[in-house]
Amino acid sequence: MIYADNAATTQMSRAAIDAMVFHMENIWGNPSSLYEFGQKAQEAITSARAKIAACINAAPAEIYFTSGGSEADNQAIISAAKAGAKKNKRHIISTAFEHHAVLHTLEKLKREGFEVELLDVHENGVIDVAQVENSIRSDTCLVTIMFANNEIGTVQPIAEIGEICRAEKIPFHTDAVQAAGHLPLDVQKQNIDALSISAHKFHGPKGVGVLYARKNFPLVNLIEGGAQEKGKRGGTENVPAIMAMAAALSESCANMTANNKKILRLRNKLIDGLNKIPYSILNGDAEKRLPGNVNFCFEGIEGESLLLLLDDRGICASSGSACTSGSLDPSHVLLAIGRPHEIAHGSLRLSIDENISDNDVEKIISAVSEVVEYLRNMSPLWKDKISGKKNFVLKG
Ligand SMILES: *Cc1c(COP(=O)(O)O)cnc(C)c1O
Repeated sequence: MIYADNAATTQMSRAAIDAMVFHMENIWGNPSSLYEFGQKAQEAITSARAKIAACINAAPAEIYFTSGGSEADNQAIISAAKAGAKKNKRHIISTAFEHHAVLHTLEKLKREGFEVELLDVHENGVIDVAQVENSIRSDTCLVTIMFANNEIGTVQPIAEIGEICRAEKIPFHTDAVQAAGHLPLDVQKQNIDALSISAHKFHGPKGVGVLYARKNFPLVNLIEGGAQEKGKRGGTENVPAIMAMAAALSESCANMTANNKKILRLRNKLIDGLNKIPYSILNGDAEKRLPGNVNFCFEGIEGESLLLLLDDRGICASSGSACTSGSLDPSHVLLAIGRPHEIAHGSLRLSIDENISDNDVEKIISAVSEVVEYLRNMSPLWKDKISGKKNFVLKG
């Protein structure tokens, strides 16, 4: 099997599995218990908190453990909205191509009377800083813009957006789930007030994540319960998962430069190979993108058919995000960057990690080329395009 769907989830690393199993077997006390056996678990998560804080240049007290990226997004956004409402500020700025954990939370707030402004995304999938600046109003209570997009991989000018928010004293949250472990994160230099992370996107386990919230960020809890996480997130801590997350993040950050050098070379080889397929287009900026992300549209192709035929050849890929596959709507991200419905339907996301080889990449290129040709040859619509009865949308 060739696994090229790391934006959906990653394989757990050996270090993460070892940390998880060790704590399951040995440190299974309750971190809230006062006897030494419980306190061992408390010490363990204290060390994990410090490790994770160091990876993003935060203070350990600003790290809150959650059940994953979705919960962290929900908590950050709802917290800022509640604090805003108290001051009669109900305007929120975000973008049209956020993850659904952000977009659906914003929809809920809209129904509760908030005004949500979703900025347009340029064709290259990068937000214009001036657009953010021009949208800020006296009643803006939150700016939330993702660090890197999960479908097309584009990386946003986060430090510049943060600088503007800082000057206007508006809390700035970023969904950094795709960036953590893959790009350098520094909440000081990048002027970030709140940031979401999910362990299973950097070789950690599923169901655990982090919300970083700066000391003055008006955090409220979504889950009522005990005094865990300074009362901001009730529930006995998932010690083995937290320990595995810390191990995975430390490892990813330590190896980031070396990994990215390898991934970048293979990603560019993949892009060059797929660019040779006629009537195809790369989605998202060629430079300002995650090292491992490749996303293409192929004219005259149904993304789902492409995926199934690649699966037959042992290649795991995705069309759009895992959350939208299974529905027939084209990806909201591809529509946001202006791809017409017809083209957006024929999308393919390949997200590679450091475990991929040159040989794997060559196999992917020939498999995709063959499957695209096969599907086009079967399509009546394609015959109409070839014969000139219908126009092509993309360049040949
Ligand atoms: C995966 C992902 C999430 C959701 O994280 P979970 O831990 O699966 O809840 C949120 N945002 C982005 C950008 C993602 O890629």
